[in-house]
Amino acid sequence: EEICLPGFLERSASAFPDNMALLFQGYKISYHKLNDMVNSFAACLNDFGIKKRDRVAILLPNLIPCVAAYYAIMKIGGITVMNNPLYSDRELKYQLNDSGAKVLITLDLLGNRMVALRPKTKIKQIIYTSIGDYLPFPKNLFFPFVGKKKKWAANVNPAADVYKWKKILAKYPPNPPQTEVSFDDVAMYQYTGGTTGISKGSILTHGNLSRQVQQLGAWFPDFEKGREIMLGALPFFHVFGLSTAMNLSIYMGWGNILVLKPLPGALLESIRKFSPTFAPLVPTMYIGMLSHPAIRRSNLKSVKGCFSGSASLPVEVIKKFEEKTGAVIVEGYGLTEASPVTHINPFNQEKRKIGSIGVPISDTECRIVDLDDGKTNVPVGESGELLIRGPQVMKSYRNMPEETAKTLTADGWLHTGDIAKMDEDGYFYIVERKKDLIISGGYNVYPREVEEVFYEFPDVKEACAVGIPHPRRGEAVKVFVVTKQGKIISEKELMEFCKKNLAKYKWPLEIEFRDELPRSNIGKILRKDLRAEEMAKRN
Ligand code: ATP
Repeated sequence: EEICLPGFLERSASAFPDNMALLFQGYKISYHKLNDMVNSFAACLNDFGIKKRDRVAILLPNLIPCVAAYYAIMKIGGITVMNNPLYSDRELKYQLNDSGAKVLITLDLLGNRMVALRPKTKIKQIIYTSIGDYLPFPKNLFFPFVGKKKKWAANVNPAADVYKWKKILAKYPPNPPQTEVSFDDVAMYQYTGGTTGISKGSILTHGNLSRQVQQLGAWFPDFEKGREIMLGALPFFHVFGLSTAMNLSIYMGWGNILVLKPLPGALLESIRKFSPTFAPLVPTMYIGMLSHPAIRRSNLKSVKGCFSGSASLPVEVIKKFEEKTGAVIVEGYGLTEASPVTHINPFNQEKRKIGSIGVPISDTECRIVDLDDGKTNVPVGESGELLIRGPQVMKSYRNMPEETAKTLTADGWLHTGDIAKMDEDGYFYIVERKKDLIISGGYNVYPREVEEVFYEFPDVKEACAVGIPHPRRGEAVKVFVVTKQGKIISEKELMEFCKKNLAKYKWPLEIEFRDELPRSNIGKILRKDLRAEEMAKRN
């Protein structure tokens, strides 16, 4: 259907006006009310001078105003730029200036900092909300996962063009300006996670985002419109959470449980309390829940579908998680440049293949091509670079013509930069990122294979393999290991386990124990940072 996302919200609001759309800390907002809020804020942005194609930045965790602001920006044809609230000033300045955002919606806790940063950007108006704006009880109570009041509220010093969300919203009746928005119009500049290098702004159109939710909705036929509960734990500022946890929920007319800080304890508690039926999460979250003491008391059977993506989920983790909780994990794959999902496993115990990312979703074409020439298709079962073409694939990168030319071919194929293979049944497997490949003595070592072995070792919580320079072999393998809390493993035992389970050229030369590993904004282990540390040590 050629309906843009705000049209889907309107549709859910007329089909299920009184159904819960969002729930935050016990505060519920219905579809009808959410749609009104979006329309009021659209009127406000229009009054602030925001026209079609103007950029508006959101710097918020998963709160009600985050969803409302995003749909309002899209409604008036503005271009949304999502930002991670944990970013430093330097990172924010880059993203705000690269996008040219004119209005910023943020949190009171960040208010004074953003007012100070404003002169270095093109931002004019700043609107701030507070975690306490939508809470069901008196604000001085203690809320689980939020903490005591003083921790989550802050005074923003008065300044010109700084507004309180609730106050400004109250000024505008829900009459949005009439703007024509269609599939070819740009909806977002969505910045990539920056796991492998500098973060790039992907230009996503309304068509990309709308087609993506329709593809996702069609994938899960057992999930009915208007009837399910989403666990909104993935951050909406990242494209994975944006499409699978926010937009899908609105398209399907589901209720969405907003989780402010998706730490393992909070996730288990939210599942216990609200019985969500659909839970898109990332590997770190599954790993975290698995080693949390409350997992033993948790019955996760309410969750009909656990979805995982954004990084590979170790097979061992899937097995242990399912054994302990009774839930079923379906793994998928995607990237920012594809809004993001392109592959998912069949939602059927017999048909899914553990360790695979599944099969392409509807209207998505795939090829696997030779790593060196980037063109010739490789035979079934052989590894090569994964290429994708489909309605969810971005238009281009912003301000990076060379990167765009390297990534998108003239006939619409997206080079994912991931090495993959396909089996004879048409299931795909991500072998490794091209950039992460370790070449040791002329042999390819995929960090993932080494890590999978580590995950099988009892008491290993996390493992990350990187290539370190080696005088004879070019590169050698080094593995960083985090053990489960309170557990001690000797390097010797681990090494012996590796020798039993891996070919000699994959044996780690070094193993280093750490308390934690560096992570990206969505919780991916930052292999590049670990490698950079190793390089720095040697220079
Ligand atoms: P950048 O592209 O800036 O380095 P990033 O990788 O964090 O940052 P994203 O678009 O968030 O950017 O991530 C997409 C990448 O995540 C894919 O290219 C792939 O390497 C990885 N990925 C996603 N899902 C899976 C999966 N199921 N298994 C393995 N890898 C995955």
